This record gives sequence, C-alpha cells and structure tokens, in this order.
Amino acid sequence: MENNAFAYVQTLRPVTVQQPLRVLVSACLTGIRCGYDSTANGTYPSVLKLMDYPAIKLFPFCPEEFSFGVPREMCDIHGGDGNDVLDGKAKVLSDSGKDWSDGMIKAAHKMLKVAQDNTIELAIMMDISAACGSTVIYDGNRFAENKVYQAGAGVCAALLQRHGFKVISQRDFRSLEALYNLVDPSHVIDASAIDHHETEWYKDYFATK
Ligand code: SF4
Repeated sequence: MENNAFAYVQTLRPVTVQQPLRVLVSACLTGIRCGYDSTANGTYPSVLKLMDYPAIKLFPFCPEEFSFGVPREMCDIHGGDGNDVLDGKAKVLSDSGKDWSDGMIKAAHKMLKVAQDNTIELAIMMDISAACGSTVIYDGNRFAENKVYQAGAGVCAALLQRHGFKVISQRDFRSLEALYNLVDPSHVIDASAIDHHETEWYKDYFATK
C-alpha cells in the first residue's frame, strides 16, 4: 500500500502563530471522552503534544458520536473497507448486528464538511477505527475469536481522502516528528521514528495476506 504521509508533511507551508496549521483531529485523540464506552480510548501523547504548540490549530471531531451518540455499541466494517462502504459494497455493523452503514456515511459527510469549512490542511485520525482508521482497520468483528486486520481506511478517512485531504494516524511517528519540527523548528527530529506501515508488525502481518 502506498503511504506518502512523511513526504506530504514535508510539503506543508511554513506556519506561524498568526497563521497556524489547521488540523482536523479525531476528537478522542485530544482526550475528549467520545469513545464507545465514554472514554477517550486511551492516551496518545503523540497527538496530545500538538495541543501545546501555538502554531497549530486543532479541530476535534468525533464522527461516531455525531451519528450514534455516547455511549454506543462498537462497530466494524464487514465485507470490505471504508471505500467499499461508501460504494455500497460493504457494511458497517454494530456488535449486535445492527446495520450502521447509513449513519456512518452521514457522519463521514459531516466530518468532510468540518474539513472543508475550516480549510483543513491535514487530518490526524485514530487508526484501527471503522470510522477514523487510515492505515489498518479490522476485517469484520474485532471481538471474533480470530480477529483479522486489513490494510485500508475507515469510512470517514476514506471520504476525506477522496476529497484530497491527507490523513495520517497517531501511530505515524515519523510523519509526526516532521510535523513537530514544522510547528516548532527547535524540535530535534528523532531519526529512529517510523510510520505505522513501516513497523515490523505491519510488514510481517500483511506479507502473509
Ligand atoms: S469515531 Fe473516531 S473520533 Fe470518535 S471515538 Fe472513534 S476513533 Fe475517536
């Protein structure tokens, strides 16, 4: 799978406090308790760190909260990825089997509107989510005895990508290092950082698919 997140971040314009970089972000990554179980799905310092930079403006949004509220069931994509859901070839099903495809597509369009209305320059979203995933998502129910991953995007990330927005994840550490340096030139880039698709787990897992 082609993934040019790092190269893309390096093409972003110079930013200042007066003209901050405009970034759409999965709301849970900023600590907002919009997860299915009313938590923020854990703590992700790689994104929380961005909240401290004055030369970056974050626009948090939770698509699943928009359509399904909090708390809610967990959901996953069955029969394809986010693009397939948008094309009517796959479904988003809740844990109990409810078809949430229409609600998820509505949420994706709302997230796209947030991106367009705020002239977003980059999106940072929670990977693995059926809505926000950009690199890896579950293939079917994540609670299955033999859960399976697939390389691909969730529904909301896929719609953003279709409209030209670049989506990276909280696990794209190499790209995030470049971003920290963009918004704070005093930040020394960690040359050992790698993006999610460069990890041994990713390469081993998908080499056998
Ligand atoms: S839908 Fe996205 S923003 Fe909302 S809890 Fe899930 S991963 Fe976070």
